[in-house]
Amino acid sequence: MKPEVQMLPFPDSLCHRCAAPPRVIDTGSSRFIFCPLRADKYPRQPVRECAEYLPQRPDGTPPVRDRDP
Ligand code: SF4
Repeated sequence: MKPEVQMLPFPDSLCHRCAAPPRVIDTGSSRFIFCPLRADKYPRQPVRECAEYLPQRPDGTPPVRDRDP
């Protein structure tokens, strides 16, 4: 695991590999992962499975979500 990933809260969370993109919220005493896609905004961590997960693309282009027409 990369050193910068180990410094993140819940480093094994699926959120850190998601292009949503999540944001780490630091209150000084606690750290949370804010999700811009889910209704619950602060999902229970570590997230292991997520229906809203968007894989990051290696070339940095925005992900395309497969949706039914
Ligand atoms: S969509 Fe799911 S995996 Fe992605 S940041 Fe939100 S909660 Fe985490």
